[in-house]
Amino acid sequence: MTLTIPCPGTIGGPCHGGCEHDRCHDARALAAKRCCVCGQFLGWEVPIVDDDPARAAHAACVRRVQAEPKPEAAA
Ligand SMILES: [Zn+2]
Ligand SMILES: [Zn+2]
Repeated sequence: MTLTIPCPGTIGGPCHGGCEHDRCHDARALAAKRCCVCGQFLGWEVPIVDDDPARAAHAACVRRVQAEPKPEAAA
């Protein structure tokens, strides 16, 4: 599934922090995760693929990897 986490403080987005809402906590935790492809934070307002929560990644990174059938051949 592809999802986008709205920025904190926007409509549909989590609180800025310090709240006890499960939904806000989950959103902040996901945004603070590292992309399993590029290693950057998943962040806000960016399409994310989280089919496997342990391997969440930017949708753009997943597409890039899928477009490279054999990454090891690039070396
Ligand atoms: Zn909240
Ligand atoms: Zn990425």
